[in-house]
Amino acid sequence: MKRVRAEVDDVISGVTRMAGGEPRSVTWRELAEEREQEVRRLSLYRAVLSDLSRCEHGRHFGDVCSGCGGPSHGNAYLPPAARIGSDISGRPIIVPAKAQFAKAEEWRDA
Ligand SMILES: [Zn+2]
Repeated sequence: MKRVRAEVDDVISGVTRMAGGEPRSVTWRELAEEREQEVRRLSLYRAVLSDLSRCEHGRHFGDVCSGCGGPSHGNAYLPPAARIGSDISGRPIIVPAKAQFAKAEEWRDA
């Protein structure tokens, strides 16, 4: 079975990548593994960004939170309209209204 897989890899490969200054053929399996690693890496970022809407008790803005005494107040460290950085073009990254945290475009245009 391994031999068949290796042969299939050879047939399907054809994508060329530079490795150490030399072109190298990449198999479909290697491409799939690269993609999986990238998805895992981006998932970690997604989790962090998603957590930005949580209050100090761990509840997303608006969810029921006994610590907040009703709906969660959300992240107290990111007040709406605060500038928290700049993108590569120097455009500001602005904290949107708490109910808009899940919309990436709102962080640019708030
Ligand atoms: Zn809370």
